[in-house]
Amino acid sequence: MKTYTGNSVLKGIAIGNIYKYQKNNAKAERKAIIDIAGELDRFEDALEVAKGQLEILYREAVNHVGAEQAFIFDIHKMMLEDEDYLSCIRQSITQGINAEYAVQTAGKKFEELFASMDDEYMKARAVDMRDISDRVLSVLMGTAGDEITAKGPVIVIADDLTPSETVKMDKSKILAFVTIKGSLNSHTAILARSMNIPSLVNTSLLFEEISDGMLAVVDGFTGKLIVNPDEKVYAEMLQKQENWHLEEAEYKLLKGKENVTTGGKSIEIYANIGNVSDIDSVIESDAGGIGLFRSEFLYLGREDFPSEEEQYRCYKKVIDAMDGKKVIIRTLDIGADKKADYFQLESEENPALGYRAIRICLDKPEIFETQLRAIYRAAAGAKVGIMFPMIISIEEITRIKEIVTRVKEDLKREGYQIGEAELGIMVETPAAALMADELAKEVDFFSIGTNDLTQYTLAIDRQNPKLEKYCDTHHPAVLRLIRMITESAHKAGIWVGICGELAGDTDLTATFLDMGIDELSVSPSLVLRVRGAVRKI
Ligand code: PEP
Ligand code: MG
Repeated sequence: MKTYTGNSVLKGIAIGNIYKYQKNNAKAERKAIIDIAGELDRFEDALEVAKGQLEILYREAVNHVGAEQAFIFDIHKMMLEDEDYLSCIRQSITQGINAEYAVQTAGKKFEELFASMDDEYMKARAVDMRDISDRVLSVLMGTAGDEITAKGPVIVIADDLTPSETVKMDKSKILAFVTIKGSLNSHTAILARSMNIPSLVNTSLLFEEISDGMLAVVDGFTGKLIVNPDEKVYAEMLQKQENWHLEEAEYKLLKGKENVTTGGKSIEIYANIGNVSDIDSVIESDAGGIGLFRSEFLYLGREDFPSEEEQYRCYKKVIDAMDGKKVIIRTLDIGADKKADYFQLESEENPALGYRAIRICLDKPEIFETQLRAIYRAAAGAKVGIMFPMIISIEEITRIKEIVTRVKEDLKREGYQIGEAELGIMVETPAAALMADELAKEVDFFSIGTNDLTQYTLAIDRQNPKLEKYCDTHHPAVLRLIRMITESAHKAGIWVGICGELAGDTDLTATFLDMGIDELSVSPSLVLRVRGAVRKI
């Protein structure tokens, strides 16, 4: 038995087998082959496995994100049947080269070929070429690649995880996340919270010390990973898990109840989501609405921009599922830790202070307009809010409104039914907080993004686990700003919510009520806990 310590993202107990998530950066070495027929067979077998993986991925993606996004896996499968590509590999093997090296070389050759084409669509297939070759390569080399190949649900242990990696994972196979790096406010931690699974970040573990299949316990109450627990500890953990389930069941009794204090003061409790697939847990949580739909997750883990149609279908699915409850969609907040290759963002010295979010949207209005068109179409007949991330000035709001007006006019002229969305901003920069009285006159609501507001106010990088000991999430400077923002909002007659992780911190629920916050938007797993806290005040 060995115990490791990490920072716990969420309370809870997971017991299961370890699955080591390895990034797919395997490199093949050239080797001479004598048994050519055997090597050809090995390649054909790997090819079949890779095609099988793609079929599964296609089916799962259809269920989770819809046929349009799933289509890419079908294309990949067709590419794996391309005769030119296959004969290039087979020829190399026939010349006595090992299958891994043959696949890697053919992959590079075809990737370059596509990249050199004039047609933009064909050019974009270069990355698909790399993807399919990497897939066959990882089967041949026995590395897992991006997908969880384990059969049952597992405890995923990784060095670190990016939002694009986590968004691609099959959530039904994950009992817990444990990362060696990572911070409590990273988007992977946020995702774990929304999935209601115990998870640890910044864990004192060497990747080499563990292997796939080892039995382990993740104790989110104490921040411990216990590998190969002895009988006594295993029994204790089973009991602790049982108690946790009982506690969860008790919170479920609060479903259908009001978010009201004993003194009669009430507050809205909404949920945060990143994907259409999160909607089930929102319904299950009995949230009053969706206070933050992190729409950028629709752009992650894929090779190209989601089209207007695809986005429209995603937003509509969420809006329909909420059945008349309010849905607040945040426009694209890409950049910093949330990256997609096809945006071709340059690497930056200080990405959190860099080219991201509304800055990209105002710089590339075609991307912004496509998203706004999809939201306005989906909002027809529904209660929808749109909010804009990383705002620092009135000029930005003026430009946003010009674009919004143009988009609405275009849609009406084209004969679309559109909705009347409330327009709000995220208050997550010190600039917006300090200008809140002015900004409040320009919008319908504020949503305070405490994750970024804390990082920028305290000058503490939210991605850096080393700084966690300096990060006082209840720092008076942040709380004072929240109070100021709230007062400014109310003075201008608009409502104000909090959608950063602090909204779910039940030690502050009474403080937020006292400040007059109108809405708290939290991870679906925390909705009933916050309701419980409100009802005890
Ligand atoms: C925030 O900054 O508090 C927020 C809600 O947005 P994100 O965590 O996605 O940056
Ligand atoms: Mg933010």
